[in-house]
Amino acid sequence: MDLQLNGKLALVSGSTAGIGYAIAHTLAQEGASVIVNGRTQAAVDEAVDRIRAETQGTVHGYAADLSHAEAAEQAVRRHPGINILVNNLGIFEAKAFEDIPDADWQRFFDVNVLSGVRLARLVLPEMKKANWGRIIFISSESAVQIPAEMIHYGMTKTAQLAVSRGLAESVAGTGITVNSVLPGPTKSRGVGDFVEDIARSSNKTFQQVEAEFFDHVRPTSLIKRFGTPQEVASLVAYVASPLASATTGAALRVDGGVVKSAF
Ligand code: NAD
Repeated sequence: MDLQLNGKLALVSGSTAGIGYAIAHTLAQEGASVIVNGRTQAAVDEAVDRIRAETQGTVHGYAADLSHAEAAEQAVRRHPGINILVNNLGIFEAKAFEDIPDADWQRFFDVNVLSGVRLARLVLPEMKKANWGRIIFISSESAVQIPAEMIHYGMTKTAQLAVSRGLAESVAGTGITVNSVLPGPTKSRGVGDFVEDIARSSNKTFQQVEAEFFDHVRPTSLIKRFGTPQEVASLVAYVASPLASATTGAALRVDGGVVKSAF
């Protein structure tokens, strides 16, 4: 299937590793020009070089913390004509409710929600002019199954669904689609490191910790393993494609069936 991404310019926030990297790689492979973003120049340069070498695609780099307003404004100024925005960057941290101070609630909102809201606001005028665009929020199964061990994270992922649906409503009747994608537990760099730390400190293998996680913490998973960043990227690449023109305002799951719902 030709995803018809030639000539499209895509910005993927937080794409030097994990799910974001897989999305940037896949979009470049499918012919889009891609802007890779991370917070350090070294990480961005490395990711750009790897994606360029592996895909022969057009890959730009933008090193900055896109949860900051000035960085977001500069990204859009420096790279005019963004057709596809993937709001991927996000942070997570397990913490008991009583231990989450106001500052953490604010930081999670700023990084996980407001960064994407702001970028969407910045790219929308040009998308409207072109009457074409794709805005994709990388939310989580945690948007609908709020993890008791990180309620602040769950709150941000639910908020993304609200923003995404509302934004889709606001551009009804245009060629712009807005969707959220909900990965389940995925072996990205962040989650991989997290599980490896647990394995090391409890003298277990990664596979043992993974099996226990799906037995006790996420027993509803139908695939009984972590998803891969590539599995998420494949869905995102389709949603970013002109072929997905009738998919908008949707919350699309690539969660291994962990959300126990047929819808
Ligand atoms: P990750 O930690 O493996 O990678 C995140 C990338 O974003 C890294 O390159 C990091 O440097 C970058 N980044 C983080 N904050 C940034 C910032 N402020 N500015 C620029 N870059 C920044 O993360 P991941 O697990 O791949 O998660 C990506 C997204 O997927 C997040 O929004 C997360 O909530 C969501 N998600 C992940 C999982 C999972 O199990 N991994 C499940 C559901 C949803």
